[in-house]
Amino acid sequence: MIRSLLTSLALAVTASAAQPPNIVFIFCDDLTCQAMSCYGDSRKLLETPNMDRIAKEGMRFDRCLVTNSICGPSRAVIQTGKYSHANGFYNNSNSRFDSTQPTFPPVLQKSGYQTAIIGKWHLGSDPVGYDYWHILPGQGAYYNPPMIDNGKQVKHEGYTSDIIGDLTLKWLDGRDKSKPFMLMSQHKAPHREWEPPLRLLGFDKDRVYEEPETLFDSYSGRSKAVSDHDMGIDRTMTDRDVKLVAPGNLTPEQRKQWDEYYEPRNAKYREAAPTGRDLVKWRYQRYMHDYLACVKAVDENVGRVLDYLDKNGLADNTVVILSSDQGFYLGEHGWFDKRWIFEESLRTPLMVRWPGVIKPGSTNGQIVSLIDFASTFLDIAHCENLPNVHGRSLVPLMQGETPADWRKSLYYHYYEYPVPHRVRPHYGVITDRYKLVHYYKPDVDDWELLDREKDPQEVKSFYNDPAYANTVKELKAEILRLQAEVKEDMPPPRFTHGNRPFDGEVNPPMQPKKGKAGGAKKKKAEGN
Ligand code: CA
Repeated sequence: MIRSLLTSLALAVTASAAQPPNIVFIFCDDLTCQAMSCYGDSRKLLETPNMDRIAKEGMRFDRCLVTNSICGPSRAVIQTGKYSHANGFYNNSNSRFDSTQPTFPPVLQKSGYQTAIIGKWHLGSDPVGYDYWHILPGQGAYYNPPMIDNGKQVKHEGYTSDIIGDLTLKWLDGRDKSKPFMLMSQHKAPHREWEPPLRLLGFDKDRVYEEPETLFDSYSGRSKAVSDHDMGIDRTMTDRDVKLVAPGNLTPEQRKQWDEYYEPRNAKYREAAPTGRDLVKWRYQRYMHDYLACVKAVDENVGRVLDYLDKNGLADNTVVILSSDQGFYLGEHGWFDKRWIFEESLRTPLMVRWPGVIKPGSTNGQIVSLIDFASTFLDIAHCENLPNVHGRSLVPLMQGETPADWRKSLYYHYYEYPVPHRVRPHYGVITDRYKLVHYYKPDVDDWELLDREKDPQEVKSFYNDPAYANTVKELKAEILRLQAEVKEDMPPPRFTHGNRPFDGEVNPPMQPKKGKAGGAKKKKAEGN
């Protein structure tokens, strides 16, 4: 009798474990691995105990790479599982997401999931396939943000990361508890202008942050595409970026708190009036305080979500994923921002906790990418994959098994030019060790070969080194193979020498085919 009761109990437990798991996807904007203690960084910039908890209790992916290192395009890649040229969203300046193409959320809905997206969306068109959406318009504001609640404009008072945290918990509380759910909780932070929560101003007690070794990169021996940028701490950071000017949307009380922290420090800066390298050093310190305070606030809100799952008995059957739309430069090469194929902005954080499936504290070094996320979500939910995706499910990797045919290389293509940061369009291939990249327009036609083993800082090109001739040849062939695989038609001839005239386009080289992806409606550029 007891035995049969135990058997029934065991069966009941098994049945409940077989329910498709919930998915909580916590997504950040411009969060980079250097700012997370679980990834380790020689500068030890910040402790992120709550993000670290996901890594400790789950799997940390060490080489999650993006395919086009910029905000909107990465989000379109996640929705579709396809590269920018196939989903039609190439850049932030004038792309608008064509929401009639296949994306993963409607598939989840159809299979009985409740779906919700809260926070930053940034794709122009309205979210499709979500039962609930409460999003920031465009880039959104850090303080007192207007938001759009299922199509209706609303106004919130407070700090945006905390508001997104509040709305996330509120939705979890009010959801239909009979259904599995997919919740995307998407932060604006720590995007430029890195405006911190007022409660964390001075959290670092005026710590002096170690500078990256390449803060004063000379770019010698590199393509003009690398040296002639407009994203330098030296030449591009504005007074607003470094908080010499306050944002205009603070309440009087908030402004008072802001001034109490920044004004005495700004007065010292004005008195010293640093120039040249001293100015860069000062800006770097201010940048680190602000950026890291933004990350800290996200970390705290990650903690609130994890606590909620614990307290409500949801942790065991919920997959928690934390990632970002790309990495970011924290002074490396003298830069802020992203865009480049270089490691800091190419690599993005990815950590997954899935009790009973992922071995706690495990790490994975395979090349994975945002193009894999849609397939992964659908696999977790036991749904059919979308047609013609470029990515594949990460579930086997999470289970500790690497399929024999897992990718050894990844194709990359960045398009947005010339505004806002004058980073020339480039495409290339990434392997475990190498990157071969081609800067192909408007006034450059340069190749670079990076060898992360010999030159982890990526300050040197080995392209013209005869010892690398074979590597270059193999990687060029690999680019062609990958372009054919993902069907990106480059303007012929693919590999040219000698400059081509600038055609003035900030759009991609080829317009998407009619009727397929690529709502080409013009949209006003909004920030970066
Ligand atoms: Ca971003």
